[in-house]
Formats: sequence, C-alpha cells, structure tokens
Amino acid sequence: MNLQAKVADLFMVGPIYAKRLEKLNIKTVEDLLYHFPFRYEDYSLISPVNKVQPGETVTIKGTIVEIKNQYTRHGRKIQKAQVSDNSGQMEIIWFNQPFLIKILKVGENYRFSGKIDWFGRKKIMLSPDYESTASEIHTGRLVPVYHETYGISSKWLRSRISWLIKQMKSPLTDFLPETIGKKQRLEDFNQALRSIHFPKDMPAAEKARERFAFEELFLLQLEVGQRKQAWQKEKLAFQFFVDQEKVLEFMRNLPFELTRAQKRASREILNDLGQNKPMNRLLQGDVGSGKTVIAALAIYLAWLNNTQSALMAPTEILAHQHYQTLKQLLASLGLKVFLLTGSSGIKTENFDVLIGTHALIHKRAQFKKLGLAIIDEQQRFGVEQRAKLIQKANLPQKRMSPHILTMTATPIPRTIALTLYGDLSLSVLDEMPPGRQKIKTWVVPPQKRNSAYSWIRERIKDSDEQAFIICPLIEESETLQSVKAAKVEFENLSKKVFPDLKLGLLHGRMKSQEKNEVMKQFKEGLLDILIATPVVEVGIDIPQATIMLIEGAERFGLSQLHQLRGRVGRGSKESFCLLFTPSTSGKSFERIKALEKINIGSQLAELDLKLRGPGEIYGTAQHGFLDLKIASFADLELIEKTKRAAGEILPKVGQYPLLQAKLKKDKIKNIEPN
Ligand code: ADP
Ligand code: MG
Repeated sequence: MNLQAKVADLFMVGPIYAKRLEKLNIKTVEDLLYHFPFRYEDYSLISPVNKVQPGETVTIKGTIVEIKNQYTRHGRKIQKAQVSDNSGQMEIIWFNQPFLIKILKVGENYRFSGKIDWFGRKKIMLSPDYESTASEIHTGRLVPVYHETYGISSKWLRSRISWLIKQMKSPLTDFLPETIGKKQRLEDFNQALRSIHFPKDMPAAEKARERFAFEELFLLQLEVGQRKQAWQKEKLAFQFFVDQEKVLEFMRNLPFELTRAQKRASREILNDLGQNKPMNRLLQGDVGSGKTVIAALAIYLAWLNNTQSALMAPTEILAHQHYQTLKQLLASLGLKVFLLTGSSGIKTENFDVLIGTHALIHKRAQFKKLGLAIIDEQQRFGVEQRAKLIQKANLPQKRMSPHILTMTATPIPRTIALTLYGDLSLSVLDEMPPGRQKIKTWVVPPQKRNSAYSWIRERIKDSDEQAFIICPLIEESETLQSVKAAKVEFENLSKKVFPDLKLGLLHGRMKSQEKNEVMKQFKEGLLDILIATPVVEVGIDIPQATIMLIEGAERFGLSQLHQLRGRVGRGSKESFCLLFTPSTSGKSFERIKALEKINIGSQLAELDLKLRGPGEIYGTAQHGFLDLKIASFADLELIEKTKRAAGEILPKVGQYPLLQAKLKKDKIKNIEPN
C-alpha cells in the first residue's frame, strides 16, 4: 500500500468525497489512516433479545421479521422493525430514516447496537447502528467515533478505514527508528494502526494511543531541533563587542537598580550578542517585571557596534509608549530614536532605533544595517512577519540575520517551552521590581454591580486615582461588534452611572491620533475612567490607575485577565481588580475565582492550560500549530521523554530515510511561536 497515494484515487472515495475530506485535512491514504477517533462507542456487550434491560447499550443479533414505515400521531415518520433471535423477539424504532426499509431486508441477519429504552410499556431498541452479520465494523465491538464534516459521517469513515486496514496485508514499514521503538516499548506500527481504529478493548486502544502520542511529539521535537540546528549552523550575525565599562555605566545611569532577574537576563542577552551566531531569545516576564529597560540595553549595545535596531510592537499605543520610554533612556546617550507611525514618512535612514507596529515590515521602512530586531508581545506576530523583518535587514551577507529578541508577558508553560518554543533560548524575569503591591482582586456577581460602582466613585472622585473599565471580549481581534459594545457601555456609564465623572473611550478602530490623544488625557489625569476594549491588554503604563474593572471576565483566559490586571498597581497606591461575571457558580466562575488567590502569571498559565487547553490560551485562530492530534501539551512526562529521544536521533537523522521523508512532509507547520 502506498501511504502517499491520493484518497481521490481510492475506489471507495472518489473525487466528490475527496473534496469533502479536504475539510478534515485529509488528502492522502496516510492522512486518512491518521484520522484517529476521538472516542469509542462501546457496543461490545452482546445480549440475547430476552435479556436486554432499559438503559443498557447493547448489541443484539437477529433476523428481521418485519420492517415498515409508520406515521406517529404528530405526523412524524418512524421506522419499526421486529427482530428475533433464539431467545425471543423485540421491536426496534428509528426516526425519520424511511430509506431503512429498503436497506434492511426481511429474513436476513443483522447486528444492531444501541440503547434499550421504554416505548410506552414496551422495551424497544432505539435508533441503533446496524450492519449485516457478515462484517463487524459498526456494531458489536468498540466502535470508533471520528470528527466529521459535511457529507462525511463516522460511519462512512469507519468503513473506508476498515477497508484500508484490511489492505495492509504486507506490513507497512515503521518510520520510527527501531532502537526508539524498542527502548520506549512502543507498540508495533501496524498493530497500533489497527488498534487505534478498531481496538479489541480499551487497554488496546490506550496502547495504540500511547504510540501515536509519542510519535507526534517526537516528530515535533525533531522538527524544532532541526530548525534550531539550521539557525545555528547557517546563519551569521554581527558579533558585537561587549564593552563592559559602557554597560555598567548604562546601568548606573538608570533611576533604579536592576532586579537580580533583570541582571541575569541582561547577562544572557549580552552573551548572545557577543557571538557571531544570531541570538534567538525569548524574554518572558510578568507584566511590570521590567522588560523594556533590558531591550534598551541591547539596543544600546547594537548602537555601540554601529548597527541599527528595530522594535516592533503589536499596537500603535504601545509603539508610542515604547518610543517615549526608549527616548528617555537612550537619547541622552546619543541615539536617534524614531517612531514610524501611520502618518510619518519614510525618510528614516537617519535613525539608530526605529519603533513601530507591523508598519515596520509593510511600509517602505529602510534599514541601513539592522543588527538587532526586538519583537514585543511576540505571540501576536506571525512567523512570516518576522521573516520579512529579517529580509529587510539589509546586511552585507545573505547568510546574515539580525539578532532577535522577542519579549512576552504571556507565561509559557514549561511543556510548551520544551516543545514549540524549543528552538528559542529563554530568559525569564521571575522577580518584580521592589515595592510592587499585590493587587486586591474580587469576582463580582451581578447583584453587587451597583455597590461596586458606588465604591469606585468614592475612590476616584476628588482623588487622583483612575480606573479602567474593560469591555467583554467578543472576538480575538477588534471587530465592529466589540467597538459597538464599547460605545454602548461608554454612553450608558457616562449618562446613567458616572454622570459626575470624566470618562474616555478607547477602541481599536479609532484613528491612531485619536487614540494617542485619549491616552494622553488619561495619563495626564484629565479623565477619571477609561472605557476600553481589550486592546489595552498589552503594556500600558499609567501609575495613577488603581482600579481595573473587567466586564464578562469569564470570556477571558486567566493569563489575559492577569495581564489586564497588571495595568494597575504600577504606582505606589493600593490597587484593585474587579472581575464582573454574570454567573455566581459553575466552572467558569470557579476558574476566574483563581485570580483572587493567585497573583503569579506562570501559575495562572499552568492552571489555564489544565482547565482550558492551549488552543484557548493562545487563541486557536492564529495558532493552528497548537492543535496536537493526539498528544497533549499537559503531558510533561511524555514531552520530556520525546525531547530526549529526539535529541539522540537528531545528529543521525540522515541514517533514517523513512523518518526524514516523514519530517519533510509533516503537516505540522507554523510551529514557531508567533
Ligand atoms: P514590562 O515587563 O511589563 O514591559 P516595563 O518594562 O514597562 O514592564 O516596566 C514597568 C515599570 O517598571 C516601568 O515604569 C519601569 O520604569 C519600571 N522598572 C523597571 N525595572 C525596574 C527596577 N529594577 N526597579 C524599579 N522599577 C523598575
Ligand atoms: Mg512591556
């Protein structure tokens, strides 16, 4: 059997179904075999007709005595069959499947699997699956249930996959190196393929699942490992001279002493910059942990080495803020700091640091010699964007790349750091600058809404404290709908709730000038409350803001809530976070309750990973790469095991042609963090 054959060419599929299968990402025979069930229907209990019990799911085997269509009193069409075996006779009922009376023939033998129920005073079998006793695919066993799509049912898939598996008479060669299979005690490839679809019992299914989970993560680890190797082997960078005197002077001139974590991260980064290999490092630190100043130090070093730097931020507001901060830190040292905005021109040859949004790559921003690229809040950027930035770097050799530093406040669970981010070096700021306070956090149920508003008014009125009110998350990106919701909320709060206070509105569809204006007013204390869509999530620094109110908190991930919360508590005053949510109990209520107790970003991320899965945390839309088929990012043990195994094979992948071929066409694309 050729695993790479197109499904369209299988006589049991054909072009129409092949088209539908594409929706499930199934193009080849291999894809079809790797379309694993996500659960099994247990039809393995086989019972004589006279022994069935209501509530049971069973399989009966018998002869059809009679089958007919009938109308119920409500005009519904039902199908009734009488089935008999040695022990007796019973009735089966289906709804709205009139074709059944043509398919199921009187006098012939079938197996029926389904639930026994009462129908009036009769015990009947309700809407069972059925098949001729000549085969055993859909009944009488553990039956696989698959993700389906329009026109492709589990039943359809089952029969095709079962047919394929029967074709595997001469065994397929395992692409995993034998040594690995032995060492890890993995199930044989062919056996595993059979068992994952048609297991003889649950332990067999589990064993097959273990093999494929191992395989999936192992391949992922190998790919990341290969990418890392390629980066280190093939790319060159400017090897910066690290002038320790200048570095110390930079640090001495700061208005504060760097934390131990900041010093450690700086050392790691400076060490990377001193190599002729490009840095590829992720700087992770909770909101407020002080990443920007470290970025500034790296920029300073690039400048000392006669190269330019670029800093790419996810929003204009943030780009603007970075511009302010970096100018303050660097201009006095002689660096020309330049902000590329929607309106500014492109006469940007004369800068040392260029700051902007993705305009940096889309606009005709020109670099002279880009030695360092910094990407803030990296999970918002795609791999392609980063590649483009490298292309624009304008370096003397094709093999050269700028050093790359990505920064994020989204804590990366260890399991993900070990896999998807495995090709990045990681620096973590696990310590906050001194004097930061714990932000008091409450989940506020609907009945306390009004008293919460009064409490806010009391704190804010006649003081210089300020509040954020964040509208609920409607979609990942800023849609018209979320803008509208924010406007309605703004109107309502201005007129009915806080007519005596000054309110401002901020959303992503405003012109950048308007946005900056509102932010400026808020910063200068001209506004008491800023109503915003979740765009403020990242990075804004307003020391007088002491209250963060979040509407529809249950819609956010814990990490996201934690980031939003980090917008307050940046000054010396006691700060608060109010999480509004419509429910007063249940899972999502309990989930956000965690914020009342936990104030460490990484712990919240781990918790979210457990409760909601990685797709939810990072937003599935841009992150198809997080959709593991069968393994789980929560399985630290397996992740570590596969990492070790991949590490052993990596230097000699060349000896395993099947494995190499598999890696090449592996569909897990886009696995770089973005
Ligand atoms: P983030 O990591 O969220 O990007 P920032 O770099 O914006 O954090 O820093 C948050 C605030 O903390 C800034 O006002 C910055 O000046 C201040 N800060 C950074 N490092 C220190 C430090 N070591 N001691 C005191 N304040 C610091
Ligand atoms: Mg920041």
